[in-house]
Amino acid sequence: MDSMYVHIPFCNRICTYCDFNKVLIKNQPVDDYITALITELKSYGEQTLKTIYVGGGTPTALTVTQLDRLLSFITAQFTVTDEFTFEANPDELTTEKLDVLNNYGVNRVSLGVQTFNNDLLKVLGRTHNFDDIFKSINHLEKIGLTNYSLDLMYNLPGETFDDIDMSLKYVSELKPKHISWYSLIIEPHTVFYNKINQGKMSIAGSLEEGEKYDKVIAGLDNLGYPQYEISNFAVSAYESMHNKTYWLNEPYIGAGAGSHGYTGDFRYYNIKPVNHYINNMNEHGTVVKEKLQLTDNDKFEEEMFLGLRLNKGVSEARFKEKYGLPVDAVYGDVLKNLTARKLLKRQGGYIALTEAGRMIGNDVFVEFLL
Ligand code: SF4
Repeated sequence: MDSMYVHIPFCNRICTYCDFNKVLIKNQPVDDYITALITELKSYGEQTLKTIYVGGGTPTALTVTQLDRLLSFITAQFTVTDEFTFEANPDELTTEKLDVLNNYGVNRVSLGVQTFNNDLLKVLGRTHNFDDIFKSINHLEKIGLTNYSLDLMYNLPGETFDDIDMSLKYVSELKPKHISWYSLIIEPHTVFYNKINQGKMSIAGSLEEGEKYDKVIAGLDNLGYPQYEISNFAVSAYESMHNKTYWLNEPYIGAGAGSHGYTGDFRYYNIKPVNHYINNMNEHGTVVKEKLQLTDNDKFEEEMFLGLRLNKGVSEARFKEKYGLPVDAVYGDVLKNLTARKLLKRQGGYIALTEAGRMIGNDVFVEFLL
C-alpha cells in the first residue's frame, strides 16, 4: 500500500447540504473514538506510505490535545514520504492547532472554503466567514505551509456568475497551489433536499450549471490552474497525489468510521456510526462491516470509471500491465463507439474524455459496465 485515508467523523455544526459520515461533536465520545481508531491503525502494522490524508467530518474539530494524541500515534507507526494532508475548516485552524500539524510533518492542508460570499456561507450552514478564510491562510503562510488547497463549490442556491468571478479574483490573489471546485449535489437526508422538495429553495438547472462549470474551468485555466480531473485544478507539480491514488485505482488503507479501503482484490467498508465503530472495536477487535471480493469485470469497470475522471485519462500500457490483456480485448466495441461519437479520444497511449464527453461523464461511464 502507498496511501492511507483516516476519517474523523466530527463537526462543530452540520452543514445544510452535507451527506458525509459525520456527527455533531458535542457530547460525542471523541476520546474513545480516537482510542478505537488507534487500535484499527495498529492492525495495519508499521508502514512507509507515500501519502496520508486525514479527512472528515472535520479533523480540526478535535482539540489540540486530541490532535496531538492522534498525530503522535500516526507518525510513530507510519512514515510518510511525500504528501501528508489534513482537512481543515478556516475558523478552526488556530495557530495552536496548526503548530501541532506542523510539528508532526503535515505538509498539505485542504481548506474547506466553499465560497467567499458570506451570505452563501450562511445558507450552507458553515461556521466560518470571509475573514476566517484570510486569517487561516495567513496562519498557514506564516509557518511556511504554502501547499494548501481551497475546496470550493458552485451552483449554490442564490449564487450568481458574479460569485464565481469573486472566487476567481480571490484565487488569483491568494495563489493556492490546488483547487477542488465541485458542483453542489443535492443529496437525500439533507436540509437542502427537504427544502427543495418543499418548494422553499431552488438551484439553477443543468444549463446554467454547465455554464458555471465552463466559467470555472476557463477562469482557473487563465490563472494558471489547468484542470487535471473533473473537479480538480492545480499549478504544475501540485496535483493531489493522494486523490490520484483513487483515480488511478491503486490500493489504499481506509481507517476510521465509514471509511473504505482497497487491497487490489477486494474493497472493504468500515462501520459508519461512531458508537458502533467504538463498540465493535472494543468487543470484537474489528470495525469492518463488509468485504467485497472484486471480479475481473469489477476491476476493469473501476479502472475505466476512475481513470476517465482524469484529463489525462487511462493509460493503455498500464491497463495491460495490471490486467495482462489490452484494453481493446475488454472494451474494443465500446471504445470504437464512443470515439466515433467524439465522447472519447485516444492519444499518446491514453484514453480520455473529450470536452463533450466530460459534460456527460456519467453517461459515458455507464457504457463501460460489463
Ligand atoms: S464541515 Fe464538512 S463534513 Fe462537517 S457537516 Fe459541513 S460539509 Fe459535512
